[in-house]
Amino acid sequence: MNKRDSEALAACFAERGYSIQEKEQDADIILLNTCSVRDGAEHKAVGKMQMLIAQARLHKEKKIFGIMGCAAQVLGESLVHDLPGIHLVIGTHRYHRIPEYLEALLKDSSKVIVDCSGITEKPVSFQNHLLQRVSPNTIQASAFVNIMHGCNQYCTYCIVPYTRGHEFSRSIEEIVHECEALAKEGIKEIILLGQIVTNFGKREIHVSEDGKTPFVQLLDAIHEIEGIERIRFTAPHPKGYGDDLIESYQRLPKLCQSAHIPVQSGSNRILKEMHRGYTGEHFLEILSKLRNVQPSMGIATDIIVGFPGETDEDFQKTLELVRKARFDNAFLFKYSPREGTPAAKMPNQVPMRIKEERHAELMRVVNELSAEIFQQMIGKTVEVLVEGPSRRNPNRLQGRSRCNKIVLFEGDKDWIGTIRRFRITRSGQYSLYGEEVKN
Ligand code: SAH
Ligand code: SF4
Repeated sequence: MNKRDSEALAACFAERGYSIQEKEQDADIILLNTCSVRDGAEHKAVGKMQMLIAQARLHKEKKIFGIMGCAAQVLGESLVHDLPGIHLVIGTHRYHRIPEYLEALLKDSSKVIVDCSGITEKPVSFQNHLLQRVSPNTIQASAFVNIMHGCNQYCTYCIVPYTRGHEFSRSIEEIVHECEALAKEGIKEIILLGQIVTNFGKREIHVSEDGKTPFVQLLDAIHEIEGIERIRFTAPHPKGYGDDLIESYQRLPKLCQSAHIPVQSGSNRILKEMHRGYTGEHFLEILSKLRNVQPSMGIATDIIVGFPGETDEDFQKTLELVRKARFDNAFLFKYSPREGTPAAKMPNQVPMRIKEERHAELMRVVNELSAEIFQQMIGKTVEVLVEGPSRRNPNRLQGRSRCNKIVLFEGDKDWIGTIRRFRITRSGQYSLYGEEVKN
């Protein structure tokens, strides 16, 4: 989501005659977009800004420094003290003022502007100027599209409802319009974005007569768009996987056979304390229904270890769930207390040493299981949307299979943006290697 916000802002600046620099040291204005979902992310952002300011000082360069995103929203005014040399601290609901503030700062760089207000206003990222995109100078295969903003779930560990505000959805018509324009530019894959996409339109749009939730109605509408060949979304909530969504995987050929469904814990007691609204059994039932309609479904998840009060027994339940779920991939986090959230004040906070032990143990199990799944892919033929050069080895290209696995292969640069078939020849830890299969 931050990536998409940054892209929109960059487009906004480009339109005003600014140019975008590849390297930080070449820029006159540096705006850092930040995350505060865990303490580590917040520290990283502040540390990075300190380093950028120090570098500019060392080289006697006059630059304008701004910090945006959730860490700016949460830390606000205090960043002015922690970051001497910062010019702008801007909250998540004030992005529309950024160009104007930066222009004022270019004229007078002795000023410091802090604006973190307006968390309950209509989210500005849906105002027209913040829906812009930088016209790509390379071929792009897929595009992120924001469909909603904020979250009302208030999971007890999570800062997002406080940094991004209440849920607010765009209209289906507006989103379809944006996707149609992207399809005309040659985009083949749409990735729908939101903190809790399965709640899309919950307040604004009625469930249809045939029982389709607004989110499924949106999937149906995007599916109709000519030129769009793949649809993905992130992040859903398990409680949004009703039969209407599960059936979509059978009904809508463009909907990719992959889902990132955060489970967070395998212990029902902890799930309740987290305010997640489902049980481990319910979660596993969703997975089996999904695999029933699409056996090749790639399923990823997020898990938190060391939530306050998590006992060894609770942790064993998580291990058990992971073994049953057989995730293709899992993102594992050590619980990080976030000030202002209910869990931060709960008794029985788990010591860091235990969090680390549980994290390592869970990682071992997750990796073992996913290695098996990756191994089983060898010899199979998959459809891949070619994205661009591989990050590690620029002589190779990379793309994603419909089940969301990274596939690496040798090929021609003009394959980028096309859909091709590959036979998997070997597997790595997080990726597969393939050879093109010609029809
Ligand atoms: N809206 C999304 C993403 C939330 S943040 C969702 O509900 O899935 C992404 C992940 O960070 C979460 O799924 C959770 O696993 C993790 N996370 C959030 N708050 C955390 C915290 N305080 N400590 C550790 N991990 C956290
Ligand atoms: Fe945070 Fe996701 Fe829970 Fe919303 S659903 S409160 S974003 S973890």
